[in-house]
Amino acid sequence: MKRLITLFLTLILLIGACLSAQADSPVPTSTAVPTSTATPATSSAATADLKFTTESMRTFFYNRDTVCGYIDVPGRGEMYYYAQNDPAWKIMRYNNINELRRSYSLGGAGCCPAALAMLIRAVAPEETLLKLNDFSYKGAGYPFCICSNMPKYCTGKHERFLPETKEEFAHFLPIVLSAYLGGNNDSRQIGNSLARALLARLDIPFIYTQKSEVALDALKNGAVIFSNSGTTMSPFTRSGHYVVLASCYEGYIYVLDPYYRDSYEPFDKGNVLEIIQPGLVRAKEENMKKLRISGFVIVYPEGVNADALSQGDDSVHQ
Ligand SMILES: [Zn+2]
Repeated sequence: MKRLITLFLTLILLIGACLSAQADSPVPTSTAVPTSTATPATSSAATADLKFTTESMRTFFYNRDTVCGYIDVPGRGEMYYYAQNDPAWKIMRYNNINELRRSYSLGGAGCCPAALAMLIRAVAPEETLLKLNDFSYKGAGYPFCICSNMPKYCTGKHERFLPETKEEFAHFLPIVLSAYLGGNNDSRQIGNSLARALLARLDIPFIYTQKSEVALDALKNGAVIFSNSGTTMSPFTRSGHYVVLASCYEGYIYVLDPYYRDSYEPFDKGNVLEIIQPGLVRAKEENMKKLRISGFVIVYPEGVNADALSQGDDSVHQ
């Protein structure tokens, strides 16, 4: 009996700890945010079921300040740049579906979805993005609100935006992909390791290699490369960081960094990186290995030297 009471008390404590962890998490609020009071739904149960986009929400999200957009990449031309720490979504909570006791944000932890978004936009037409709907959990799409990339972690008071058109998917792609990687997908799997599998599901062929010389050759042949700069020696951050190798031009490798910043001073001790503009940096070709990249996912835009796909470690994934 004593054991049962102890077990019961432990359970109560555990549940209490989970709830307080959620309550204590720094979920942002803003008085400027439209809330569910603008809709007839007032009960908490009804609020939790909100999965539509009102015109006011569309206007609200589209009119937020942003640093995202087309930029000119030497040797490549226009590419769409996404910042994980974009003012439009950097405060959004980005946890996976199993994380209750920690709180991450897109701004702090969203390098993988933002880099993946840049890769996809570089190599696939916008129509491809609509396929993402088929992969969402129960086909319900990817609703998000001002505070969270998925309803699970919303404070429960915010109206949601549900991307439906290809333009909406394109505009908010890092949020959509972060939800997918966080577990809003049909298999309920989580993690950045889903990125490659997702490319395959989107019918985007790629090869994977750990050899920087293979990656450099591919880059020179017109490929775009999704890659992870790891270890504490990375010039980009203190920990692992996903970036996109965008081009190799006149002796320089151009890199799209999803973390929008105007200095790498704390990390880039060897002065490997040169900022062209925040979000776009370059490194000398001979410093390729100093980028500390441990894996390269090589993708060729449509019509670009697809024959070179046979150069990787693996066969082509489709
Ligand atoms: Zn919310």
